[in-house]
Amino acid sequence: MSESRVAIVTGGARGIGAATAQRLARDGHAVAVVDLDESSCTDTVTRITKDGGHALGVGADVSNAEAVNEAVARIADVLGPPTILVNNAGVTRDNLLFKMTEQDWDTVMNVHLRGSFLMSKAAQAHMTQVQWGRIVNLSSVSALGNRGQANYSAAKAGLQGLTKTLAIELGKFNITVNAIAPGFIATEMTKATAERVGVSWEDFQKGAASQIPVGRVGQPEDIANTVSFLTSEESGFVSGQVIYVAGGPRT
Ligand code: NAP
Repeated sequence: MSESRVAIVTGGARGIGAATAQRLARDGHAVAVVDLDESSCTDTVTRITKDGGHALGVGADVSNAEAVNEAVARIADVLGPPTILVNNAGVTRDNLLFKMTEQDWDTVMNVHLRGSFLMSKAAQAHMTQVQWGRIVNLSSVSALGNRGQANYSAAKAGLQGLTKTLAIELGKFNITVNAIAPGFIATEMTKATAERVGVSWEDFQKGAASQIPVGRVGQPEDIANTVSFLTSEESGFVSGQVIYVAGGPRT
């Protein structure tokens, strides 16, 4: 087991964030589960606590600077200085360009890009002090381009640029910054897409799996396992990378 740290997982109420929070708790870290609504974090926090881990639920909108600063200050007060940050909170507002509203564009940019910027800025203040840190940003295969996702793919590509720049700036403080770009992962987000395109959840997963070299869709734990490595002591020489976790190669 690696040294016990304080980790923050945004969007930790469900899906990839919940699996990641549970995994980091099993790795021995105290985990702050951040989501829009504090009560939505209860399930994840309870599962971690029942498992013998230590967790705190915190309500914050990651796109709101004041909320982010308050949340990170509270986490530092209650759990100690956060030195692991997983920027996972995300939303989709899919539409073809001609139907995409400014609100759809701004919402997606604000949660993914502004949220990761604000959270990283607040957390690095603690990481630089102790000269150790790990930041993992959730990008996506959509960064490579995806019909109906101009906003989301631009945000996810933007996160790859943010990742590389923060890796360069923060490396001297012994802080690594990496991105994970998942392919199809079975969560509420992909379920909502199946509903939107009018395909049953089973058929939607089968269709996706048929295009994936390993022959199955991803599970939240597939991403949590990768986060576990990228936040471990052993990953200290891996920085500024984008790891596609998609059951096959992507370029
Ligand atoms: P999910 O099931 O929709 O969970 C996302 C979580 O983020 C929700 O709990 C949501 O809260 C929360 N959230 C949304 N906006 C927030 C905000 N402003 N502040 C704080 N929390 C906020 O999504 P997921 O599938 O687990 O995806 C997690 C991450 O992986 C996202 O960044 C997503 O873009 C990325 N990703 C997912 C896939 C996939 O196939 N699932 C593939 C590639 C990348 P509410 O429920 O209250 O909205």
